[in-house]
Amino acid sequence: MTSSPGSTIGPGSTIGIVGGGQLGRMLAMAAAQLGYKCHIYAPDEAPPAAEVAAFFTRGAYDDEAALARFGGEIDVATYEFENIAAGPLSALAEKAPLYPPRGALEIAQDRLAEKDFVAGLGGRPAPYAAVSSRDELETALTRIGAPAILKTRRFGYDGKGQARIREAAGADAAWDAVKGAPCVLEGFIRFDAEFSILLCRAPSGDIALWNAPENVHANGILDHSKVPASPALRSAIAEAEALACKVADRLDYVGVLTLEFFAGAEGAVFNEMAPRVHNSGHWTIEGALTSQFENHIRAICGLPLGATDLVVPEVTMQNLIGADVVEWQAILGDPAAHLHLYGKGEARRGRKMGHVTRLGGSLG
Ligand code: AMP
Repeated sequence: MTSSPGSTIGPGSTIGIVGGGQLGRMLAMAAAQLGYKCHIYAPDEAPPAAEVAAFFTRGAYDDEAALARFGGEIDVATYEFENIAAGPLSALAEKAPLYPPRGALEIAQDRLAEKDFVAGLGGRPAPYAAVSSRDELETALTRIGAPAILKTRRFGYDGKGQARIREAAGADAAWDAVKGAPCVLEGFIRFDAEFSILLCRAPSGDIALWNAPENVHANGILDHSKVPASPALRSAIAEAEALACKVADRLDYVGVLTLEFFAGAEGAVFNEMAPRVHNSGHWTIEGALTSQFENHIRAICGLPLGATDLVVPEVTMQNLIGADVVEWQAILGDPAAHLHLYGKGEARRGRKMGHVTRLGGSLG
């Protein structure tokens, strides 16, 4: 399914971004380069994105009236934060075109709906079962077996809202940890590597894919990405790219879409999707001809997409998490390192404070 090309929202227009974190900040910087103004909507007092945007509205994600007012002040809306409830989202979408489309957001907000949807298109998630009571957890564990991971269906990110169950006896502790929230139980995948597929789809149906990054996580949080991924992942990546394009077409998607995968003996196992720009695509700012942020802005404004080719043979992106950020001066000691700091005050444990991208390999 392809949508008819929408009207162009030209430079000078105002792009509304729901969410004020580093993703919104980098989107606003890319939008400014193309001559757009951004208006950030977020509940925080001084969010990182507002520092680089023309306008900022402080409001709660569930305040329908405030989101409707915000929608009336912008030409097009997008989001960098996924956990907005259906009601407030409708209030916004009634006032301004919203991309990526609501259907994509609603599926990606719910781990169960997301797995059902992707499985319906031929993707292979880890074995999974819906769990909404302690009894259902028992039944699911009998079917899936341990080790397994219990994940809340909603509001999880960076390993939050997850409890590992190493053996069946650990079920009580896991159920306590998720505080009775509706969950999915997932079989534990013994993967060789993780990678993500990043694509951008235009309203015309054109799709641009970036080179898939190989991602290494620590404590459930992305630690670093490298591009290109190891050659051993080539066939899993090809399979995952085909699936990601199907997902984007089926959702009549507009903007950047990210799908995360495990690669193992059985090929590409789908983990989760994010209907937005993604941490594993930060390397595209310096490492690709057009960054994920710029192409997202181009897509939602109806502009042609830019090329996504690598500009050098190898790129790495290292996250600066918590206290890592104190190394900023040492990082600048490497003249080839591209340092990005998000302007966040306190370097709390597990908080993404910045990242550093290094371009490498010989240009041949
Ligand atoms: P998630 O927030 O679901 O992406 O999980 C964060 C990280 O935890 C993943 O990137 C993996 O490193 C690990 N993880 C999540 N689910 C599984 C699984 N079913 N099997 C093995 N590792 C997992």
